[in-house]
This record gives sequence, C-alpha cells and structure tokens, in this order.
Amino acid sequence: MTTATIVGAGPNGLTAAAVLARAGLDVTVLERLDTIGGAVASAPAFGDQALIDLGAAAHPFGVTSHAFRELGLEQHGLEWVHADYPMAHPLPGGRAAILHRDAEQTARELGVDRDAWLRLHKPATDDPFGTSEAIMGPLLRWPEDPLLLARFGLRGAWPSTTLARTVFRSGAAQALFSGSVTHATLPLGYPLTSAFGVAFGGVGHSAGWPFAKGGSQSIADALARVAEAAGARIQTGVEVHDLRDVPGDVVLLDLTPHQVARIAGEQLGGPYAKRMQNWRYGPAVSKLDLLLDGPIPWEDERVARAGTVHLGGAMREIAAAEHDVAVGRMPAEPFVLLTQPTVAEPERAPAGKHLVWAYAHVPFGWPGDASAAIEAQIERFAPGFRDRILERRPATPAALELWNPNLVGGSIGGGTLAGTQQLARPRPIDPYRVPVTGRSGRVYLCSSSAPPGGGAHGMSGWHAAHAALRAL
Ligand SMILES: Cc1cc2nc3c(=O)[nH]c(=O)nc-3n(C[C@H](O)[C@H](O)[C@H](O)COP(=O)(O)OP(=O)(O)OC[C@H]3O[C@@H](n4cnc5c(N)ncnc54)[C@H](O)[C@@H]3O)c2cc1C
Repeated sequence: MTTATIVGAGPNGLTAAAVLARAGLDVTVLERLDTIGGAVASAPAFGDQALIDLGAAAHPFGVTSHAFRELGLEQHGLEWVHADYPMAHPLPGGRAAILHRDAEQTARELGVDRDAWLRLHKPATDDPFGTSEAIMGPLLRWPEDPLLLARFGLRGAWPSTTLARTVFRSGAAQALFSGSVTHATLPLGYPLTSAFGVAFGGVGHSAGWPFAKGGSQSIADALARVAEAAGARIQTGVEVHDLRDVPGDVVLLDLTPHQVARIAGEQLGGPYAKRMQNWRYGPAVSKLDLLLDGPIPWEDERVARAGTVHLGGAMREIAAAEHDVAVGRMPAEPFVLLTQPTVAEPERAPAGKHLVWAYAHVPFGWPGDASAAIEAQIERFAPGFRDRILERRPATPAALELWNPNLVGGSIGGGTLAGTQQLARPRPIDPYRVPVTGRSGRVYLCSSSAPPGGGAHGMSGWHAAHAALRAL
C-alpha cells in the first residue's frame, strides 16, 4: 500500500489527508500542536465562558469550496450559520452600506450605482460555486469553465481603485467594493485586486459569508472525520524539524516556504531553494477578541445584524491605510476587519453577552499591539462602544506566529500575492511539487503558499493531493 505523510493539520493538510485516504493511500498526519485545525482552530476564552475563533472566522470561500462540498463536510457535522447580512460597511457620516444576500437589494440601496453594482458582480452573483471553482486553483491552467473565467477576468483584472472610480459614482459603492478588496491584503491600486471585490461581493449576494456553527474548528473536525473514516491517522504533538525524518512514499507539507527551506535544508534544488528562502509574506494582522456586555451600539443600527463589518471609512482612507502597511508603515487608522459571531450563533457567549473578533492590517513583522487602534476604529462608527467591553484578548503578530509558525511575521495568507507570487506560487509550472534530492518518493507543498492562496477553503490541499495522485 502506498504511504503518505502530511506535515501540518491545518485545513489544507487535512483536506489533502482526506483526499489521499479516500483514494486508498495509507495516510498519517503529523501536527506539532496537541490540537488540529491550524488557523481554523477555535478555543474557549474569557475564563472559559465563550468560544472564540483563534484564526479564520467568516467563510465565503468555505461555503463555496469545491473541496469541502466534494468531501461532504456537511454530512460529517459541519453546519454553516448566517447573520442577517453577510457584511456591512459603516460610512463617514453615520450610515452604512450593506451587502445583502440579495444582489438587487444591495444594489437598490446604492441608488445611482444600482445598475453598475449589479453588472460588475453578475458572474459571481449568478454562479458563486462556479466562480469559486474557477478562481480557486493555479491561475496558469486550462479552466473548467473558460467563459465564466473570461467574464470574471474582464472585471477582476483591473486595479480596484481605477475600476471603482470608473464604474461607481457614489462613495458608498466605492467603499463597499473596496472593503472586500482588502481581503487581498494588497495595495488597492495593484492589478487584479478587483477580482477580490467582485468575488467576495458576488459570493456574499448568493452563498453568503457564514460562520461555522460551533466555531471554525468544526471545519477541521469535519475534515478529520472524513479522513479518519477513510483510514487516516492523525498524530498530534509531533513537530517535524527535518524532512529526512518524515517517512512515506509521498510527503505533503502544510507549511510555508521559509519553513520548507528550514526542514528540507540542502535537499532542495538550487533555484527552488532560493525561491523558498526569498519568499515574501506581505502585511500582517494584529488581532483582538472582546467580550461585551451587550451588542456594539453602531450608529447605523443595521450594522448590528451583519456577520462581518469592514471598518476603514471611505475608499480613499482604505487605500491610504493599505498602501501604508504594504510599504511597512503603521497607519494611524488601519483597516479593521471585524466579525460579530454571536449575531449568528448567540450560544458562543453567555446569555446577553456578545463577542467581537477583529483584526487590523499592520506591516509585516510589526512589533506592536493594534488593540487601541482597533477600538478607536470601532468607536468612530459606534460611539459608546468602549463602555461595553468586559474583557480583551489581544494577539499581536508575534503571538500569532508563536502559536502557529505558518503565520510568519503575523502574515495570514501564506505569502503575498504581489509581484510574481500570484502567478508563480511558488513556481509557474507544477506548483505543488517540491523538488528534493536524495529521496525516493515525491514531496508536495499543500499549504496556502501554493495556489489558490490564503483562506479556509482547503483548495491548496485538494489540488496538491490530486497532483500527487496523478503522479502515482
Ligand atoms: C487571525 C486570522 C484570521 C483569519 N481570518 C480568515 C477568515 O475569516 N476567513 C478565511 O477564509 N481565512 C481566514 N484566515 C486565513 C486562513 O485561516 C488560512 O489561510 C488557512 O488556515 C491556511 O490553511 P493551511 O492549512 O495552509 O495552514 P494553517 O492553517 O496555518 O495550518 C498549518 C498547520 O501546520 C502545523 N505546523 C507548522 N509547522 C509544523 C511542523 N514543523 N511540524 C508539524 N506541524 C507543523 C501548524 O501547527 C498548523 O496546525 C485567517 C487567518 C488568521 C491567522
């Protein structure tokens, strides 16, 4: 029987394990922590009164993930829970723009930009699952649905600030679109950034941006159930320091390039070794979880019904903050991504209490704690919010990396999409294969450093596992 070892039990490692075990391989997963899930783990917090997501919280690309649907996670205990609105974006002046699970309603509330909003998001709104599948893989491949990808690409290729200024007349539509673009963690003036706005907006209109019931950990637990049902073994508390110690006819690494360079050492081929060592991670996050004695008193009360809230104000402000973090400067008012999990699942906190999960975009490796800046951004759109805080749980970039070494410098996407790292992730041809010498079996990269990139969707693991199966 062919044996496979997977290093790391994040969503990509576990997805790869499930695919390979189902294909009949003898699979072992090695995870350094005593718990599985990587950056989709959840844990009790605030004196065990509440359940918080330590990493990922909102899942537009989890609910549409081809891998998760093919593996049948919803038949293995995963349940998605939705807030009334996928996302809200408070605007300067007090009102908010709302992303509804209804494109027409979202667009209608944007007034003069109604038609432009609908037209721009149409491919992703009409076919969120097809869109997700089209963009969630290596960009340099023949797509399943070339027409859909072409329609999407015509919109997505543009720098988002150029596109937003060209097609929208209102600040509300420009800001709502730009907030979704920030998920790229790239300066808003970069090519291809519009793809994020179109994809996140369109998927929100139709599939939503749900939470996983019982915390994002449920995604990892469901993946582990699928893998174990097919015979895979998951060993926790095992940290890999040297690739030579990892047995298996096939090895998949749920690690990022600097870690791969460290554990593989001289076994890596020359140019590939250089690529791994020189890999760039891009901006980081500084996270803050809060326990409140009531809901956030948003100026626009509708924001209290949204799962995700984008805090950065107008497009111009967001673009300036995102530019600053990309060039290594900490902005006074960073962009803040906030979720309100208890809006969708009140049981995560004691009765009457509310949870806030938020992070600010900060420069790579930034040594500070952005808690005060995060609270200031919330207070700006919800005066009086600070009086509701019962307890705080900050996680600085350094603390995040200490918890999970894949979060190098506090960066959460496995490597920036800037420069060549979007198309050549980490290399243009055969992106999942890791060229090692002195080993009889093959090695693959299955983490978010391989296509399609960051996010709790398992698609890097899915494609890496299929690349391994094709070679076998
Ligand atoms: C704060 C934060 C917020 C986020 N928010 C969202 C969100 O809302 N929505 C979304 O879709 N995505 C979000 N993400 C991104 C998403 O969580 C990641 O892209 C995703 O988890 C990447 O999965 P992975 O399997 O590649 O790596 P990881 O999830 O990082 O898993 C890697 C695993 O490998 C283990 N490991 C590392 N080194 C070794 C070693 N030497 N030996 C053994 N095991 C090892 C780690 O302990 C870890 O369990 C967020 C991430 C963070 C950190």
